[in-house]
Amino acid sequence: MKKNNTKKVFSSANFFFLCIVFIFSFIYYYNEWQRNRAINNNSASIIFFIMIIAICAYFPTRFPLFIKTKNEKIDESYYDDTYYKELGFWAQLYLGFFHWTKYNDSISLFSKKVLGLGIKNRECKFTYNNSEVKNIHRIFDFILTVISSIGVFFFAQEFSKMGVVFGLTLSVFSLLFVFRNIILNRIFSVKIGNDEEYNLSIMYPYCMLDGIMSRKYGFAYYGDNSILLQKDVFCGGEILKKYIVAHEKGHLKTSNRVKNLLQLITFIFVTILFFTSVGFMVQIGVKRIEFIILPLVIYAIFLYVYLTLIRKKSEKDEFLADVYAIKDIGKEAVLNGLEAIKKDTLYKRSGVKLSGVDIDRRIEFVKKYKG
Ligand SMILES: [Zn+2]
Repeated sequence: MKKNNTKKVFSSANFFFLCIVFIFSFIYYYNEWQRNRAINNNSASIIFFIMIIAICAYFPTRFPLFIKTKNEKIDESYYDDTYYKELGFWAQLYLGFFHWTKYNDSISLFSKKVLGLGIKNRECKFTYNNSEVKNIHRIFDFILTVISSIGVFFFAQEFSKMGVVFGLTLSVFSLLFVFRNIILNRIFSVKIGNDEEYNLSIMYPYCMLDGIMSRKYGFAYYGDNSILLQKDVFCGGEILKKYIVAHEKGHLKTSNRVKNLLQLITFIFVTILFFTSVGFMVQIGVKRIEFIILPLVIYAIFLYVYLTLIRKKSEKDEFLADVYAIKDIGKEAVLNGLEAIKKDTLYKRSGVKLSGVDIDRRIEFVKKYKG
């Protein structure tokens, strides 16, 4: 029997987030308001006033000062295998900023969150708990809050000048946002084993928004040669699991890592360059609007070309991974796996192409393949 001891505790982590978000927003909007007042733009001042009210209403629900905690335990005598993973400071900091569809439930940034997984045959149970919070953790939270608040105060002044700081911040923030799905899945996964070829991790079904999680059956993570499987795939039927593992293994084996890395670096580099150059032009006082529009147009063209190339490449990668899977587990098993996905209600509901390639095209490709 699982025990749910729910109690309400003070969250010094949320106190930290509230302080820095409020200070940042107020300084930023105060500066904007002053600027608009100076040029007698009253309607803009009213908009900023409404925004401040919206911020005051929203953030306390996103970062409540008192949160309910429950302590769910995995009955280790019942499950065959149990695994744990600790989420530390950086993971909790990231979740605070980017996992914004739910309220932030961390108590202290310096204590750990523990992701637990119990496995018995086709039964998987996940738990997600705060570990014990000591006084020293709270003290660290408060020290961090004070230091960060001072930092954020000066930072927000710089930021509202729309200069290079503005550009750099925006680019780092958008990059962390673009790769949100990969980073969150990585944070919310528990490693359960490895062989010479790859590490295997199971993803906690955290559900960013309904459907977003469900369409990811698994993915290959090149950083430490991992295959991440969705919980329902791992503890679901053998057919689906066998295919997804073989397919992801195909990605790990067939993809060109140097190319992937270069592709990633190019994107990051151009994005930072774009945001920073816009900020730089504003800061040095470039008035003619076309000089500011120019980086925007160049960036838009870059994105168009880049995304078109990526789409073509990822399509090719998908077929390559399926070819590997056919050689690994046989054509029959691959077809069965693809048919299982096609029948899956989660897949149908999501209405999204699997990794950019339509499921029927993939089935057709495998059927025609002669190797
Ligand atoms: Zn794939």
